[in-house]
Amino acid sequence: MRVPFLSFTGMHLPLRQAMLDKFEQFFDSNWFVLGQQVKDFEMEYAKYNGVEHTVGVANGLEALHIALMALEIGEGDEVIVPSNTYIATWLAISFVGAKVVPVEPRLDTYNLDPKRLEEKITPRTKCIMPVHLYGQACEMDAIMAIANKHGIKVVEDNAQSQGALCNGRKTGSFGHLNGTSFYPGKNFGALGDAGAITTNDAALAKTCFTIRNYGSQKKYYNERIGVNSRLDECHAGFLSVKMPYLEGWNQARRAIAQNYYKALNGVGDLVLPVLAEGVDSVYHQFVVRTKHRDQLQAFLKTQEIGTLIHYPVPPHLQEAYSHLGYKKGDYPIAEEIAETILSLPIYPGLTESQQDYVVAKIAEYFASL
Ligand SMILES: *Cc1c(COP(=O)(O)O)cnc(C)c1O
Repeated sequence: MRVPFLSFTGMHLPLRQAMLDKFEQFFDSNWFVLGQQVKDFEMEYAKYNGVEHTVGVANGLEALHIALMALEIGEGDEVIVPSNTYIATWLAISFVGAKVVPVEPRLDTYNLDPKRLEEKITPRTKCIMPVHLYGQACEMDAIMAIANKHGIKVVEDNAQSQGALCNGRKTGSFGHLNGTSFYPGKNFGALGDAGAITTNDAALAKTCFTIRNYGSQKKYYNERIGVNSRLDECHAGFLSVKMPYLEGWNQARRAIAQNYYKALNGVGDLVLPVLAEGVDSVYHQFVVRTKHRDQLQAFLKTQEIGTLIHYPVPPHLQEAYSHLGYKKGDYPIAEEIAETILSLPIYPGLTESQQDYVVAKIAEYFASL
């Protein structure tokens, strides 16, 4: 049996004709940038996400970057961000010239630890960027309470967690501005790069609409410094076709996760993902930890089971951030996570026999030790 790390077939095959019809409609419209498809999708996604406004942009990184620009965060400002996130969250801060202030995550949930937040806050702190990593919602009520107490803005990085809930409310609806990514491999993906900003603040939404389009609302009149980061009509159209399926796909991921929890409990030294109180996960990844990570991954590869490491090098140890002078040992929790995590296959369409095979091969590996 072969189990690829990710396959789109289960999601895309039933949609093939609807997607081709949408393409035909887009092609015949002769309208390729900022038209009705984008407008319709922005409404649909706002409704799904439980917010007033969605601003479609070119990708997730730009969503975060534009959000920070709209909040006028820049040089001299500090932004608190998890030490174990994907590098995009850090890059958005670097683009606006602000200072990255890493905070260690909880080792059990891999998400931002509200208990560690306050010690990082200084008079220069302008923003906190919680990242709902691997699909699990951060403890947003605790985070918002701290941010509001100090008058600090919040930008959620919702790239991995469309549809996840914190106390019944969707991620991407708590922060002042929130960024998400529709990169194909995310839970909700376009057929190329795409992203969005979500917010309940009409004035901030308007600022983001302006920034994404050269800082202009009226063609050839530019009121501020902006970027070219628009959501393409074709991707908006494809996303609209996929929108009604997202809840079902997230349910399929949750069901696979429950299977893994049951079958992998107590196997070897595996540590399974823990959910914080009041939150759930849409299992963008199912991440386990083990001291035998590299050997287990190599063995699974010989058995034709694909796995990945999200992520092997934490941002503070990346060459891109060498100018900050961090060294190994500065963020031990992020480093321990990077050294021991392994992401197992989890996606709609992963069959029960494939799941059983993954579990059996992991058990076989640990039995051989
Ligand atoms: C994918 C991702 C991004 C960036 O999204 P792109 O669309 O690839 O630019 C940002 N943050 C996190 C946590 C991500 O997983």
